[in-house]
Amino acid sequence: MTDGFATRAIHAGQHPDESTGSVIPPIHATSTYTQDGVGNQRAGYEYSRTGNPTRTSLEECLAALESGTRGLAFSSGMAATDAVLRSVLRPGDHLVIPDDAYGGTFRLVDKVLTGWGVEYTPVRISDPDAVRAAVRPNTKVLWVESPTNPLLNIADLAALAEVAGETSTKLIVDNTFASPYLQQPLRLGADVVVHSTTKYLGGHSDVVGGAVITSDEELADGVAFLQNTTGAVPGPFDAWLTLRGVKTLAARMEQHSANAARIAAALHEHPKVTRVFYPGHADHPGHEVAAGQMRRFGGMVSFTHADGEQAAVDVCSRTRLFTLAESLGGVESLIEHPGRMTHASTTGSLLQVPSELVRVSVGLEDVDDLLEDLLAALE
Ligand SMILES: *Cc1c(COP(=O)(O)O)cnc(C)c1O
Repeated sequence: MTDGFATRAIHAGQHPDESTGSVIPPIHATSTYTQDGVGNQRAGYEYSRTGNPTRTSLEECLAALESGTRGLAFSSGMAATDAVLRSVLRPGDHLVIPDDAYGGTFRLVDKVLTGWGVEYTPVRISDPDAVRAAVRPNTKVLWVESPTNPLLNIADLAALAEVAGETSTKLIVDNTFASPYLQQPLRLGADVVVHSTTKYLGGHSDVVGGAVITSDEELADGVAFLQNTTGAVPGPFDAWLTLRGVKTLAARMEQHSANAARIAAALHEHPKVTRVFYPGHADHPGHEVAAGQMRRFGGMVSFTHADGEQAAVDVCSRTRLFTLAESLGGVESLIEHPGRMTHASTTGSLLQVPSELVRVSVGLEDVDDLLEDLLAALE
């Protein structure tokens, strides 16, 4: 029997230290490891770019949480994204990305990968037929986020896994917004999951990191080769901090989801709010798919302000508890204006977001305090 999710989060990859009995895996602050004779390593470690026991604990835990066989930790979500894309794509290849992809992913594809001869097509990934229609003979990757950032569009992951199977492409899912607690794409047929562990997995806005998880051994070997070759690895303290955050992921995601549901409901009723982007609402176009593939609807809510861009910007600077900042997924609530902040790099492109859009990452404060704060800022 496989342990439940919360049990895996606390125990997978995290065994009491053999030499001291320390219950918590130590921070192995070392760059290198002594050998008992040339080439005779004690525990399989020789140099910390290649492997470090604290990082191994994190990698095993993340693999277990996503129901994959291999986890590879990186120094950031973008380093993880870069490693998996460069291990799969070659010059002349093509990939499909969401038409509201995370801004940093769009920048990597549009400004870096195109320079290496890779082509891409942005599509509305909530429509599996549109994704299928965008596939060309040279397409190797369907890159998907669900829910998307910042518009919370939902992709039907099982349907896209079928498209990937039919077209011999790899379905890669950036699962940052949902976290493995809410959704496990590998179980729905995806080939690879990518995370910015900076967000919900770390959960405390105190460490930047990323991960690639898969059960495709050949693909994992390719990503591991790049991880070691290019060296964008997390240090042992970063790996430890992330692992510390992961232990409470299940409890946090329950409360993030409950608080966000209350916030979304209040925004829905508000006269200054024209649209609420939240997959938990029955009128969200992806609601049914989300209900089928997610445990709950997560902690992210976006909305448009009836009075336009300046009013949206003003709301972001008037809140007291919602801190004006980029990023998401921490215990503290954050608010931001995607058009001028996280998604500024999409201005003038197909992926441009509405200028009157506000995005909130609903934290774990008392939800009544959060409601009062946001409603006061909308006055
Ligand atoms: C933040 C984020 C990333 C990038 O991760 P970093 O850790 O900031 O490099 C990628 N995808 C999504 C959906 C994100 O929110």
